[in-house]
Amino acid sequence: MAAASQSPGVEADLTGKPEASAAGGEKPVCLLVLGMAGSGKTTFVQRLTAHLHSLKSPPYVINLDPAVHEVPFPANIDIRDTVNYKQVMKQYGLGPNGGIVTSLNLFATRFDQVMQFIEKKQQNHRYVLMDTPGQIEVFTWSASGTIITEALASSFPCVVIYVMDTSRSVNPVTFMSNMLYACSILYKTKLPFIVVMNKTDIVDHSFAVEWMQDFEVFQDALNQETSYVSNLTRSMSLVLDEFYANLRVVGVSAVTGSGLDELFVQVEDAAKEYERDYRPEYERLRKQLAEAQTRRRQEQLERLRKDLGAVNIASAPFSEDADIAGPSDFIMTRGNPDDSEEAEQVDSDTDDIDHNATEESREEDAFGNFLKERQEVFRIRNRKCETPDAP
Ligand code: GDP
Ligand code: MG
Repeated sequence: MAAASQSPGVEADLTGKPEASAAGGEKPVCLLVLGMAGSGKTTFVQRLTAHLHSLKSPPYVINLDPAVHEVPFPANIDIRDTVNYKQVMKQYGLGPNGGIVTSLNLFATRFDQVMQFIEKKQQNHRYVLMDTPGQIEVFTWSASGTIITEALASSFPCVVIYVMDTSRSVNPVTFMSNMLYACSILYKTKLPFIVVMNKTDIVDHSFAVEWMQDFEVFQDALNQETSYVSNLTRSMSLVLDEFYANLRVVGVSAVTGSGLDELFVQVEDAAKEYERDYRPEYERLRKQLAEAQTRRRQEQLERLRKDLGAVNIASAPFSEDADIAGPSDFIMTRGNPDDSEEAEQVDSDTDDIDHNATEESREEDAFGNFLKERQEVFRIRNRKCETPDAP
């Protein structure tokens, strides 16, 4: 078995130092960060952002977690500026989980605009980082997660980073469950995949790498377990053999920042895999989609023609999006002048931010502006708390 902290096919001259930006018209690499609640996704994105800033290669960062209290990194796009999670819960009578799923669905309906923002800025960034909701299934098992992933992967080289809590995987059965979940996500997203064994400051990940490389060692660990589950795990570990063989595994600590150089070696390798194996497939899909759209438009036109009978079709108004529902009341977008009216109607706790300004200003001196903005938001929030009737 060839489980690896260094996967096969990594070229020797890769230094792990990311380039400053997507040079020569190259597209930025999207890193989709997934993992169980508490595995350290947000901390990892924060660490990666700081690391890339220090290398003068600031990433384009997107927060997709509507329920997060504080985003500890400067986000270029933050779902919380677009969807008010608490209002969604109230309006639709949902609990916290339903609220998160619905917020993400609402956001997905406008993801084409997010794509436009990324495309506009693609020359300035080598990496796009996406932090996802705490509960992994909200993203991986929802229509919106699929829409967002496919939209990204059809335009940019896209890599899934599966973050796991190494310190909570020292039990062989827990480890196996985590790996099965990772495997299911690989098959669901069908994208180049890196397992990040996080929290190596608590426990080194070498035990896990050994378990993946040496079946006997893992069996020995399992033998200490006597439960029914461990019998199942024994069979499962055979199934996972193939998964391990081609898996990229990196141990990192999001807290100390160790392992990041090795991570970027793996990221570059995964991006190459995307170009080689995935892009042709996505281009084919894109072509199919375009053909289907043209066909649908023609059918609509035919229907219109029938309905209108003798009316002169050439002069009849025709809207491409006639059958697409209008945007939700909860949605507003950052920095899009077309949406300014709609944005004004939205009662959001970030209403006081100048949404036209944030997109640009955060680009320039991201950390400085980020801190200043947060301070301003807190100042306004506190003022609102003191005088609840104030506008
Ligand atoms: P998320 O739900 O996956 O976004 O997880 P968070 O980033 O919110 O982290 C969950 C908890 O794990 C927090 O208390 C973090 O401080 C902690 N944590 C994250 N990464 C590390 C790490 O590398 N080492 C240690 N010791 N703690 C970490
Ligand atoms: Mg998080």
